[in-house]
Amino acid sequence: MIKKIDHIGIAVRSVDEALKIHRDLLGLEFVKITEHDGMKIAFLMANDVEIELLESTRPGTPIATFIERKGEGIHHLCFEVDDIERELDAYKQKGARLIDETPRRGAQGEKIAFIHPKSTGSVLVELIEKHGGP
Ligand code: ZN
Repeated sequence: MIKKIDHIGIAVRSVDEALKIHRDLLGLEFVKITEHDGMKIAFLMANDVEIELLESTRPGTPIATFIERKGEGIHHLCFEVDDIERELDAYKQKGARLIDETPRRGAQGEKIAFIHPKSTGSVLVELIEKHGGP
């Protein structure tokens, strides 16, 4: 079951430049910056929804490819679910194409998985399960 929107990922060329917009102009609450999987990621909060600014730190990452093709902008939408394996199984049974057949670890150690945008109307959807799960 989907509980809520957990975060929105935004592909940026430079986290430092993007912070001038999201933190300084819009006034989102800055949390931290981490490096993970070829990305520099800034975490900000809009109340209980997180905004992630994603900068590629090397060529060939999904963020680098996205920016080459489409430029900067919204990269993915992440829904929090209560049981990620169960959701992935259910989506697979409904014929969805999954990028991650089994969950992997996200930037903050949570279980995450991506659904292919071909199955979700060109919107890249991520699922996240928090607190370790069952
Ligand atoms: Zn994400």
